[in-house]
Amino acid sequence: MNELLENIHTLAKTIPRNITLMEVCGGHTNTVMKYGIRDILPKNVRLISGPGCPVCVTAQEDIDAMIALARSGLPIASYADMMHVPGTKLSLDKAKEQGADVAVIASATEMLKEENKHRIFFAIGFETTTPMTAYLLEHGVTVYSAHKTMPEPMKAVVQDTKVDAFIGPGHVSCIIGTQAYKELGVPLVVAGFEPEQILHAVYLLLQMIAQGKKEVINDYDEVVKEEGNLKAQNLIARHLIPCDSLWRGLGLLPNSGMEVRSDKQNAKILYKNILEKQEASKENPICRCAEILKGHCEPQDCPLFGKSCTPKTPKGACMVSEAEGACAIAYQYKKQEEN
Ligand code: SF4
Repeated sequence: MNELLENIHTLAKTIPRNITLMEVCGGHTNTVMKYGIRDILPKNVRLISGPGCPVCVTAQEDIDAMIALARSGLPIASYADMMHVPGTKLSLDKAKEQGADVAVIASATEMLKEENKHRIFFAIGFETTTPMTAYLLEHGVTVYSAHKTMPEPMKAVVQDTKVDAFIGPGHVSCIIGTQAYKELGVPLVVAGFEPEQILHAVYLLLQMIAQGKKEVINDYDEVVKEEGNLKAQNLIARHLIPCDSLWRGLGLLPNSGMEVRSDKQNAKILYKNILEKQEASKENPICRCAEILKGHCEPQDCPLFGKSCTPKTPKGACMVSEAEGACAIAYQYKKQEEN
């Protein structure tokens, strides 16, 4: 690793300007923070986190919609992390405490159990979790889809944040492959999750920048294939269709989500009458999640970080998922440093 790091520093000296690299995967954020990778990079190389945490990017409107459905008496099922994300007035957790019928599920097997399969499934996440939703749809489950797709948000941050290059998401790329990133027009290296793999991706990106190249390199080819996972792609295509989607921080992005194909299984159509009565959603004005997701600031820049906002008392979406949320991860490693 020392040699790799030395090579990164030597290469960075040949680039006479500041470079911004972005990773867009909660797993990468975790490794970067855990091993202090940002601190050991050359001064002119900045590595920031982007919109890679599925819980964080889910729009407030979708969280409020699920809470509205739950409070109207409909049975809901959600991943555990989504339970704690503050909506405009309350979270799914709080709705449950007040009597709403909300079950926490972690797998398709659990969702298809007799006691759960009649519930509306709150489907969130990127292409990594979309195949499970498609599988549930194949088994007759009703779904509220807030699914998101790459690489559309990456296009948005290239323009907005002036990102020079990306570390491509490892898990998402297993499903979609590497072709889609070519349209971004910036260097991209798909990487694994070990610190050495991330540093190697940084090295390859700097090499491309130094040589003026804008290629897509698959540096995780033991897992990621150029064409992706065709079986998963076909399963998704049978049950979901691309749609415009609302993102926290990035707003409405064309063609960046997946909607349920069948109206008979689409909770947004089936329960339109309840959802239409929903009040306008509002985000906590102090929370800086939206800016963090665009790479404009760090968790520590938020005045609530580690004070009133902690993983036990999240005031925003980025403090919820300990595995993928930028604020929750930053809090976890800050605590470890203090102890
Ligand atoms: S520390 Fe909390 S309130 Fe601040 S940006 Fe992060 S999640 Fe939002």
